[in-house]
Amino acid sequence: MDENVTTAVLEEWVRRFAHLVAENRDHLTELDAAIGDADHGLNMDRGMRAVVAALDAGTPATAGALFSKVGMTLVSTVGGASGPLFGTLFLRMGSTFGDVQTTSAQELAAALRAGLGGVVDRGKAGPQDKTMYDALSPAVEALAAAVADGGDLATGLKDARDAAAAGRDATTPMLARKGRASYLGERSVGHQDPGATTVALLLEAAAETNF
Ligand code: ADP
Ligand code: MG
Repeated sequence: MDENVTTAVLEEWVRRFAHLVAENRDHLTELDAAIGDADHGLNMDRGMRAVVAALDAGTPATAGALFSKVGMTLVSTVGGASGPLFGTLFLRMGSTFGDVQTTSAQELAAALRAGLGGVVDRGKAGPQDKTMYDALSPAVEALAAAVADGGDLATGLKDARDAAAAGRDATTPMLARKGRASYLGERSVGHQDPGATTVALLLEAAAETNF
């Protein structure tokens, strides 16, 4: 697996994610209405619209600059838990890529893993806490496994998409132990986690991108 992943294709991924978030804004907000404060779709859509505006104003030259811009924009435009959490995910990915114009499947897998580490540092969530972690962690493992096996990146990203979707679905029966949903205790059971749903969209966007 030695594909050259360009900054342009990574930007295409980010723009596709913004598109999916916009399409799913009301759905994400409805999920958050059940176990939170009904703002997750609005939060993420506001943030990703600002990201697209920033990218329209000037294309970052490197993978590091691209993801840093995405992360900083999310942190500065999104309130609530998801701004710092998704912001940190992208910021860590950016610092892992560094100032390179092209990167590799291995680096992409490593960057996503580092992003997960950033989310854990910030939010202290682990498996089964019913958060974005439960979709992101399986996606990280699936992509890493595909890259280690030497398969092509497109297949690896489809595996990661499927793993994230399964992780998202698995949040429904969980009892929330982190974030606003945890205030509900037993009443959080039976509802899909909004943040995990957004992570599944991020991996869906990756699988749809022509890497
Ligand atoms: P808020 O909860 O502040 O209203 P959002 O509604 O935008 O923020 O985002 C809620 C999502 O954030 C949850 O569905 C969950 O996936 C994620 N989340 C909340 N707290 C944590 C945490 N400590 N670690 C990881 N993810 C978290
Ligand atoms: Mg909320």
